[in-house]
Amino acid sequence: MHIALDGPSGAGKSTVAKALAARLGLVYLDTGAMYRAVGLKALRLGLPLKDEQTLLPMLEETQLRVTRENGEQHVYLDGEDVSFSIRTPEVSMAASAVSTVGAVRRWLVAMQQEIARGLDVVMDGRDIGTKVLPDAEYKFFLTAADEVRARRRYDELRAKGQDVDFDEVLKDLRARDLQDSTRKESPLVQAEDAVLVDSSGLNVDEVVACLLALMGRA
Ligand code: C5P
Repeated sequence: MHIALDGPSGAGKSTVAKALAARLGLVYLDTGAMYRAVGLKALRLGLPLKDEQTLLPMLEETQLRVTRENGEQHVYLDGEDVSFSIRTPEVSMAASAVSTVGAVRRWLVAMQQEIARGLDVVMDGRDIGTKVLPDAEYKFFLTAADEVRARRRYDELRAKGQDVDFDEVLKDLRARDLQDSTRKESPLVQAEDAVLVDSSGLNVDEVVACLLALMGRA
């Protein structure tokens, strides 16, 4: 079974996808982490983040591996576990920038489709229902008001001990939304056959219950 969960930043996709995967006994794949790893490498190398001519040779020299350890996803970039280093506001913006590049998308989409082959999976991202798993049995587009999404992201970063400012988080989120939804390659759009769920007034359990009900598995 394949479940596609798309939507803008901070809509709660990863928390909901994890809970849904646990409830249904599926594997959870966070595809954003893969774009973040590519963004991190380009940042570290000081490369222009939207330049295909520079990023393509970089990808040819890059090894990306996604593993599951004690139920948690880990991402290895050239052998280094970068699962924590990819969770900074700087890497969020870099991921959004490199994700506009066609070569990056083709490279990661192929990898994601390979991972999903023969696997029961809940995948979250921006283009899962439209590009990665167009034949997924279930497709959801999860969204929420931007202040609500920024508040969640802010609380998450604060809980991790990061010293962030709410207005900065909101500004970054809006910039990322704009970049993600206006890019030429696979912009963030709801798949025609995806069900829209607005999580603004709902907690995680309520969203999961809603999705399960929509799947006829409540
Ligand atoms: O989901 P997350 O916030 O970790 O994703 C980081 C960035 O990666 C997003 O802002 C988006 O630009 C990009 N992304 C994407 N396609 C996906 C997943 C993430 O373009 N399937």
